[in-house]
Amino acid sequence: MKSLPRLSFGVGDRFAHEAEAQLAAFERLAAAGVVVAPVWNKSNREHSFIGSEPASVRAAAAAAVARRKWPHPWFVDADHIRLETVDRFLESSDFFTIDVADAIGKPAPQADVKAFVSGHAELGKPIALPGITKVFRLSEDSLARIAGKYLLACREAGAIWRHIQQARGDDVVVEVSMDETDEPQTPPELLVILALLAEERIPLQTIAPKFTGRFNKGVDYVGDLAQFEQEFSDDVAVCAFASRHYGLPESLKLSVHSGSDKFSLYPLIRRTLARTGAGVHLKTAGTTWLEEVIGLAEAGGDGLTLAKEIYAYALDHVDDFCAPYAAVIDIDRTALPAAAEVAAWSGPRFAAAIRHVPTNTAFNPHVRQLLHVSFKVAAKHGSRYTDLLVANREIVARQVTENIFERHLAPLFLSR
Ligand SMILES: [Zn+2]
Repeated sequence: MKSLPRLSFGVGDRFAHEAEAQLAAFERLAAAGVVVAPVWNKSNREHSFIGSEPASVRAAAAAAVARRKWPHPWFVDADHIRLETVDRFLESSDFFTIDVADAIGKPAPQADVKAFVSGHAELGKPIALPGITKVFRLSEDSLARIAGKYLLACREAGAIWRHIQQARGDDVVVEVSMDETDEPQTPPELLVILALLAEERIPLQTIAPKFTGRFNKGVDYVGDLAQFEQEFSDDVAVCAFASRHYGLPESLKLSVHSGSDKFSLYPLIRRTLARTGAGVHLKTAGTTWLEEVIGLAEAGGDGLTLAKEIYAYALDHVDDFCAPYAAVIDIDRTALPAAAEVAAWSGPRFAAAIRHVPTNTAFNPHVRQLLHVSFKVAAKHGSRYTDLLVANREIVARQVTENIFERHLAPLFLSR
C-alpha cells in the first residue's frame, strides 16, 4: 500500500498552469517546519468541463516537482470517480477518491443487513471511544437502519476498489467519499460505514463524510462552529477506533472536501489535530482558478479585459452555471453588479471584489461564487486564456502561492 502522510492537502489546477506556484506554498510551509504532502486533485466533471485528460494533471505536477526539487511525497488524486469514469484515470493517478454518495439509501437485502448486525455485536453495546464527548448507544433497530442505508454504497465502493486493484495493484491511496449528498453523517453513522468498508477489505486511508453545516464553494463555512468542532473531533476518534478494531490502515484519517476558504474552521481543525495527534486531508480546487482571474485583473491590459469578459458572460448565463452547483453556492443575484459597472473597474478594484479577504469592504462573495462556478468560460477561450496566464506568469503565481500559503496552509498547520 502506498502510504499517505499524516498531513496532506489537495490542490486543484484546472488549467494545469499553477502546479509550481502551488508547490511553492508547500515549500514555505516546510521551511516553517511542517511538511505537508501536496495532492493534485481533479474530478471527472472538471476534466469534462475543460476538455482535459487526467494524464495532464500528473505531467504538470511532475514537472513542478522536478523543477523545484520537492524532496517529499506527492500524489495525483482521481477525484470523485465512479465505476463508469475511473478507467481513464487508472494510469496517471496514485490516489483514488471513490464516490458512492449516489448509492446511499438504496435499499439493501434484509438478510445482508441482519448478517452485518449479528456479526457486529460490539456496535450494539454502548461505545465509549477515547476522546469522544458522549457514549454512542445504537439500538438494534437503529444499527440495522444505518447499516441498511449505507450497505450498498459500501459494497459499490468495494467493487470499484477491486476494479482499481486489478489494474494498479495495491500501491495506491484509496479514499471513499460520501460528501455529495443531502444529509450529513453523524459520528455513529461514520463508525458503521467504516465497519462496512472494512468488510469490503478496502485499504481505506481517507474517508470524506458530509459534515454538518454548509461548505459553499470558495467562501467561508456557514454553520455552528461548536457543533462542527465536536463532530470533527468525534469523527477523529471514530477513525482511530475503526483502524484499530476493523483492520483498516493505521493512516486512516478524515478528508474534508470543499475545504478551501473555510477560514473559521481551520483553527478548530488545527486544535483537534494538536490535541489528538490525528492527521487530516483537506481538499481545495477552484480557489486556485479564482487566483488566476485575480492575477489577470491585477495585471491590467488584456488580462483585465478578459477577466471582465468572463464576468459579463457568467452574469449572462448565471442560471446555466449555477444549476450544477445549486447545493453548494448561495448567490444573492441582487448583489451581482451589472457588467457595465464592472467594465469601469480598475484591475485592483476587480481583484479586491473577488480576493477572499472578508474584511475588505470591496469584497463581494456573490461575484466570487459566480466566478468560481464559471471556469468553463475560461476553458471556452482556450489559448487566449492560457496564453495570458503564461504572459502574466509572475503576478498570477504570486496570487496562487499567497492564497494557498497565507490563507490556507498557515492557518491550518502553523500555530502562530
Ligand atoms: Zn467532494
